[in-house]
Amino acid sequence: GALPLPEGGSPAPALSFEFFPPKTEALETQLWSCIRRLETLNPRFVSVTYGAGGSTRERTHATVIKLVRETALIPAAHLTCMGATRGEIDEIAARYWDSGVRHIVALRGDLPPGQTDVGAEGYQSAFELVEGLKRVADFEISVAAYPEVHPQAASPEADLDNLKRKLDAGATRAITQAFFDSETYLRFLDKCLAAGITAPIVPGILPVTNFAQAVKFSEMCGTAIPGWMAVMFEGLDADPETRRMVSLVVAAEQVRLLQANGVDEFHFYTLNRPDLTYAIAHILGVRPEAPAMRSEENSAA
Ligand code: FAD
Repeated sequence: GALPLPEGGSPAPALSFEFFPPKTEALETQLWSCIRRLETLNPRFVSVTYGAGGSTRERTHATVIKLVRETALIPAAHLTCMGATRGEIDEIAARYWDSGVRHIVALRGDLPPGQTDVGAEGYQSAFELVEGLKRVADFEISVAAYPEVHPQAASPEADLDNLKRKLDAGATRAITQAFFDSETYLRFLDKCLAAGITAPIVPGILPVTNFAQAVKFSEMCGTAIPGWMAVMFEGLDADPETRRMVSLVVAAEQVRLLQANGVDEFHFYTLNRPDLTYAIAHILGVRPEAPAMRSEENSAA
């Protein structure tokens, strides 16, 4: 049957948005127009990713500091520990704290392809990183969770134990890897509860516009693509406009199913594009305090 519409009286969910640090001036402009549109939705926090192996260290830092200085948003800096010494990581963290950044998304990260040596001087896992960050300052910390199990986990149970250790070490929430099958996430929530995890496990929502890219992503991360989703995007490779509309329906159905099951917090992988996230937020009942005007309307007025 049809899902119920959001009720007038029920509180709108809390949202957070993820951005990546821009590499070029054009991407910088795109990012900031995305931030300006989504900040009207009053997110709980916005996060900025950290390129593999710390490759965007300075760009991530610059974006986070600009968020502190030029917006009222609460930024969360992603930080990975692979390939850096404990001292280097502690220094980055202390620099963030001194600049007014209070929230870190603490991740292990991945080694560059071909490299296998973790380095004895570094934090060996996100769990150790969380402990280290807490020694530097009393950060709010989010960590990663994997409803479909991390590809390197010894077993689903070991992965869950690892998540629990990260939360027990001082993280206050987990954000999930993107998933496309909502049932998988809901079953994962049950397993977390059964394992004694009480912290919020916030679903990471990736609105898919490019199905071919989603397939690549799923191969990399072990995320299943349900058959119905492949059928939805079938034959649309050369039709981006229809694909966008289908994308909205797919993501909207996903979040409304989660909302109907009691999920009241969502994290969006925006890919620095606001429109789909904005529309899905609207469907979830999240509205700007003063209705935002589209840029076309602005210029027409
Ligand atoms: P961990 O929690 O340390 O776990 C990794 C794996 O190792 C798990 O399978 C765990 O079970 C296992 N493990 C941990 N400790 C042990 C142990 N002692 N013994 C045996 N097994 C162990 N990557 C980036 O480079 N930059 C980003 O900005 C970024 N942002 C992300 C945001 C989110 C929300 C998510 C879900 C992922 C993100 N990633 C990012 C990807 C992440 O870095 C990779 O998935 C990485 O492989 C694992 O990081 P983790 O923090 O989950 O590691």
